[in-house]
Amino acid sequence: MKTKVLLLITLLTGLALAHEGVELGPNGGRILGFSDNETMHGEVTVKGDRFHVALLDKAMRPVAVNRQSITVTTGDRANPVKLEIGKEATGFVFPLVKSGEWLIVRYKETAEAKAVTARFEYNTATCEDCKKAEWLCQCKPDAEKK
Ligand SMILES: [Zn+2]
Repeated sequence: MKTKVLLLITLLTGLALAHEGVELGPNGGRILGFSDNETMHGEVTVKGDRFHVALLDKAMRPVAVNRQSITVTTGDRANPVKLEIGKEATGFVFPLVKSGEWLIVRYKETAEAKAVTARFEYNTATCEDCKKAEWLCQCKPDAEKK
């Protein structure tokens, strides 16, 4: 019985994660979870030929960068590419990638802290419904539309 309940919870959690929508931040960028408890976020925006990741606290207010760090990996599993990260007052910058590339962002609160991993596909194709780029699209999967 216990096993069945656990299995059900696991399944439901899996579904919830799969259908989790894109969250947008105060600057219209994509929010990445940089904590297990919603206390730290990264808002990804594109400026020119670079991605910017702004650190935001629980209330989506900017956080000063001091000991925090990120690493960003792109490319495929067989040939991962680490991108060069620049530090700014309240965030990080790294080079733009091609549309369709996945970005794996690993955030660390301090050098000793456990890394929190966030991933997303940088898909710049336009969504037919909201006309936004797919990586910023908040439309629910078809099955969930009313
Ligand atoms: Zn959309």
